[in-house]
Amino acid sequence: MSEEETANAEIPNAVSFVVNAKKQMERLAAPYRTTSYQNLICTMEKYLEKTCAHIPVIDYIDTHPEASHRIVYCKICYCTIH
Ligand SMILES: [Zn+2]
Repeated sequence: MSEEETANAEIPNAVSFVVNAKKQMERLAAPYRTTSYQNLICTMEKYLEKTCAHIPVIDYIDTHPEASHRIVYCKICYCTIH
């Protein structure tokens, strides 16, 4: 993630509009997505990655009854933070 991009003069709601648009587009099941449709989603992901002022949240996903996997995601755009 590049630091210089965060200084972009985006209007305050721009990120949440893209988050909602992406959520909407992801309702189409993967097998029905064409390459250009999938590319639009990827473009939104890249936009959010560099524009969102990520707020990391730590969560645990149960992979087995005995084991859980730790993930960090952004509270605003829901992207996974590695
Ligand atoms: Zn984010």
